[in-house]
Amino acid sequence: MAERAARTEMEAVLQAAEPVTRSVWLMERAGERLGLPVEHIHELVAPQEVTVFRVPCKILGQVVNFWGCLALHNSARGPFKGGIRLAPDVTIWETTELARLMTLKCALCDVEFGGGKTGIRVDMARMYERFGRTPRDLAFEKIISLDAIEYFAQQYRDVFLKHHYIPAPDMGTGPDEMAFIYNETLDPASVTGKAEGVHGWLPGRKESTAVGCAYVTLRVLQETLGRDPVEATVALQGFGNVGRPLALELASAGVRIVAVTDLYGGTHHPSGLDVDGLLEHFGETATVGGFPGGEPIDNAGLLALPVDVLIPAAAGDVITGPVAGQLRARCVVEAANMPTTVEGMTVFEQRELPVVPDILANAGGVIASMLEYSSSLSAIKPTQTEVYDIVRRKIGENFDLARSLAASENLSLTQASVELAVQRVYGVMKGRRMI
Ligand code: NAD
Repeated sequence: MAERAARTEMEAVLQAAEPVTRSVWLMERAGERLGLPVEHIHELVAPQEVTVFRVPCKILGQVVNFWGCLALHNSARGPFKGGIRLAPDVTIWETTELARLMTLKCALCDVEFGGGKTGIRVDMARMYERFGRTPRDLAFEKIISLDAIEYFAQQYRDVFLKHHYIPAPDMGTGPDEMAFIYNETLDPASVTGKAEGVHGWLPGRKESTAVGCAYVTLRVLQETLGRDPVEATVALQGFGNVGRPLALELASAGVRIVAVTDLYGGTHHPSGLDVDGLLEHFGETATVGGFPGGEPIDNAGLLALPVDVLIPAAAGDVITGPVAGQLRARCVVEAANMPTTVEGMTVFEQRELPVVPDILANAGGVIASMLEYSSSLSAIKPTQTEVYDIVRRKIGENFDLARSLAASENLSLTQASVELAVQRVYGVMKGRRMI
């Protein structure tokens, strides 16, 4: 990698250059187009605060130390907000990038939060080895994730109580883990994505990311591809908190889900999978692999299928340059955070392939989190229908704005979305004399 001067304090402290990430790449291009001074673009990119911590947990009679990182990127437009990711490979840079994405997502979808993120390095495979366990045992994995969150929440209780950073679920966590944060703070507004019935929970929060993603997918199918949903095909990577309700939403609109993969396997049926049956199979086996209603397929096969829409709803960086070059889908809807690398995005721009960026496609979760937060403060709970309506309205309005900016300025939808977000964050930073 070519030498260059440290661009942020964090780079100087770590004595390492941040890898080229998609949000930095996109924000720098947006800042240049908007004519912002270079030093202001750096201020927009730089995180406010990054903390590295260890979480010593007592799990089943042993002490296990997990490494973690809390990245608080920007709070110009509201409290730092973002999920907690439990995964074996989280890093400072990944967590920082995810926090920056939250800043952009909240600004683009008009949510009064800033951007933050937590990554805790939990390697389930190593936990199985350490505790001498086989085969896969979901109850065991739940003990690990709940214990990690409980001890993390004890360490960060005051941060949550001040609503300085308000956590939510991400990969590896869900409503149960958020309930454990509530157990520690006893403040319903200190965390969102709480399990049903827990003080301050929100009807529809769990499905809201999928509801927003399905809404924008159906609009793209009809308005961009000119395709009737009942004739359309979708390939879906990931069958977790986002993927499962998303498959149901799309199937209920008549869309054929022809393939689904997860970490443990995949299933494919060219004329459409029986989604109810697949959910039942998943309920029994915790994977889509081995589903009797389809043929096995792996990730590489899924990513190359000739479908109308490819929806990555799992890990990041799965669509690299070569994958993007070979993709036969007519459009990509990024349900996952940053599933496409910079090289992949460059290929998409060259191919002029329609892409709905993550900061629009998966914003339903944080829009509902905003409603959960505000209703926790006011104790007036919206209904599930109201939550879904607001999710669709906010995504729809900003999809329209980004699409017309893209058309008038000859930008991709991703570039236009980032430009709108950067403009909004920059405007408030200027107004608050933060820049
Ligand atoms: P999850 O942990 O509930 O599920 C992840 C799914 O992806 C699982 O099915 C897992 O097996 C699969 N998976 C992981 N790595 C994979 C790989 N390499 N290949 C194939 N499948 C793989 O996570 P989630 O909450 O559903 O989040 C999925 C994505 O959506 C993440 O990128 C997350 O950041 C993003 N997201 C989630 C929410 C939310 O509300 N949960 C909101 C916005 C964005």
